[in-house]
Amino acid sequence: MNTGILKNTQLPYCKGCGHDLIARMTAEALEKLQFKPLDVIAVTDIGCHGIIDKCLNTHTVHGLHGRSPALGAGISFGVDDPSKKIIVFIGDGGCTIGLQHIMEAARLNLNMTLLVHNNMLYGMTGGQTSGLTPSGFCTTTSFDGNPFVAYDLCALAHTAGAGYVSRIMGLGNFADKLAEAFSYKGFSLVEVMEICPSYGVKYNPGRKLKEIAESAARPEGTWLNERQQFHYQPGKKSMDLLAELKPVNPSMKAVLNTPTSIVMSGSAGEGVQLAANFLARAAMLCDLEVTQKGSYPVTVGVGFSTAEINMSPDPIYFHGIGIPDYALITSVDGLAHSLKRINGMTKGLLFIDESLDIPDTGATIIRHDFRSMGARNASLFSAFVFAKMTGLLPVESLFEIINQSGKQKKLPVEKIRERLRDIKQ
Ligand code: SF4
Repeated sequence: MNTGILKNTQLPYCKGCGHDLIARMTAEALEKLQFKPLDVIAVTDIGCHGIIDKCLNTHTVHGLHGRSPALGAGISFGVDDPSKKIIVFIGDGGCTIGLQHIMEAARLNLNMTLLVHNNMLYGMTGGQTSGLTPSGFCTTTSFDGNPFVAYDLCALAHTAGAGYVSRIMGLGNFADKLAEAFSYKGFSLVEVMEICPSYGVKYNPGRKLKEIAESAARPEGTWLNERQQFHYQPGKKSMDLLAELKPVNPSMKAVLNTPTSIVMSGSAGEGVQLAANFLARAAMLCDLEVTQKGSYPVTVGVGFSTAEINMSPDPIYFHGIGIPDYALITSVDGLAHSLKRINGMTKGLLFIDESLDIPDTGATIIRHDFRSMGARNASLFSAFVFAKMTGLLPVESLFEIINQSGKQKKLPVEKIRERLRDIKQ
């Protein structure tokens, strides 16, 4: 296996795309600085640059369009560790959409690097004009040349307070310039100018990158502000969310010895996320690695609520779940939302409330009257039944984690304990 920053040498861009060189220069710069892949948290945005995720051996997080700087900022708040490097990749389209997020990260001088792939148009969606398209540059939405003046992103970030800002041409070897930005303690922004061969070259025949940048008054350069890196300080009243998180100290043992995926699906307002959180924390109590992810509609208390949990004795590097090993279904909404996955199960166990129709599945079906514990507790009861019947986690780990949460008085723990007596492993 390749242990460098880049997993593949074949990158997935169109031939001649400047993103290719930026990815290689980024890897070279990080390797020069002796960062190991898992020291790096790469946050990508929507756009062609973002398809780099699968080619990286680093941690990767893929954000919504324009929101990657906010994700990077959140990670920077939580990971205040000089041995780690947070790099946010973004295109000029993402910068246009998420400009305020960039200004905030610059204003606070958060410790991260924003690596701007400025090819002066929206490449992935067909070559449209962005806020960083220079005036006169032709795109698929301005055939006669952009009539507007582009944002000067470097000037904006510098004015907002970024400690380190630079603009470079994406030509030749610029790994040292990137390494300088990556080494800065605080917010560094590097705007790499490049041309998209598929649209930029096509609609601006004969024009060269340097000439375009010069005529748009976007020279190479580095601009600094004397700033101290922002450090998050737990315990301050205004931002003690992380400090409030109670750590789970492992004190039990689980039988589970292979990576295991679980989908819990029920109705919004029926405590699915809370039950999933108890199950996840119970696994942590048993010294397992865990991920938990929730999804539900924007509207509160309506429709489905689904939680995905991975548990493993080994580190988990990918938290996505396609077809789960176990599905715990407690309502009509939950069944409808997870039906495709359940249909795709060729093995494993499906725990399903006995009021529901049995779907087509290759999983072994276990029907149980989860909803007899009350709609709001059906999902929690299913988590206990899952633990008891599979034996993967001791049921006592769930009781203990509920005790530690302080919520035991609001939940039917004694009734659940009584009902579990009749359930066989
Ligand atoms: S469309 Fe343009 S930006 Fe996207 S990969 Fe192709 S050359 Fe690169």
